[in-house]
Amino acid sequence: MAGLLDGHIAAVTGGGSGIGQGICQAYAREGARVIVLDVNLDGANETVGLVTAAGGTASAMKLDVTDRAACKAVAADVAKSGKISILVNNAGINRRNPMTGDPTAVAKDWDDILGINLDGVFNVTHAFLDQLRATRGRIVNIGSIQSFVHATWPNSAAYTTSKHGVLGFTRALAAELGKDGVRVNAIGPGLIETRINAEARARNPDMVAAIMRHTPLNRTGKPEDIAGPAVFLASDMSAYVTGCIVMADGGFRTV
Ligand code: NAP
Repeated sequence: MAGLLDGHIAAVTGGGSGIGQGICQAYAREGARVIVLDVNLDGANETVGLVTAAGGTASAMKLDVTDRAACKAVAADVAKSGKISILVNNAGINRRNPMTGDPTAVAKDWDDILGINLDGVFNVTHAFLDQLRATRGRIVNIGSIQSFVHATWPNSAAYTTSKHGVLGFTRALAAELGKDGVRVNAIGPGLIETRINAEARARNPDMVAAIMRHTPLNRTGKPEDIAGPAVFLASDMSAYVTGCIVMADGGFRTV
């Protein structure tokens, strides 16, 4: 049976863990050749193992998305065996510390979070832009509920700012690249059980309960809950969809 992504080459940043790993597996299942990019090469290799064990095709490359020159070098390397037609900007980190805390730590959180979650999205997108224009490709950025609000997640000004930025970038780039046939969309995950929040979930059951009270589907999400929307936005099923954010948050934003 034909896959929804047959013939595509997809690069996924942060593909070595959590949501990115789930997206890599789903893309490979749908026929794409997947390039797993992650600062954590062991994680990326783990993803390649999972994909190939399931009969898919994937390769791993180490990439720190904050390193602009490395992004360019990786993109050039990738192009040698074919131009990508799908880019998923997924790599991200989070830290929840109050702005009123230790000034040095606050400034470091700001630089690290904005550097990876927002500058990283620019660095990777810019590096692959020629390939995506040549293939009339698709970009999927990972936003958040915090692309809109953050009241349920206190002490996360830097993260909230970065995810607002991801949504702004998505809309602006969709407007600019539509003429080239490149579609740019985002996904807004709710609380998805991954390493990024494992410690916070374990330490703050009250926060998880507050989020669940705000989640009509009344459960946390899994990476596979994000993989479906990611396949949709990368495939021809969304041929007339651009500049939008698909919320996969259990209904959080409806309440
Ligand atoms: P995760 O399991 O921690 O995966 C993130 C991956 O990105 C890790 O492999 C991480 O490597 C990698 N990474 C970190 N810094 C990087 C860098 N500089 N360059 C390249 N890769 C880097 O977290 P996740 O939950 O899957 O998060 C994926 C995305 O979803 C993030 O953008 C996050 O903000 C977003 N999101 C998550 C949730 C949620 O509830 N989980 C909700 C909304 C949005 P290391 O492990 O070595 O750091």
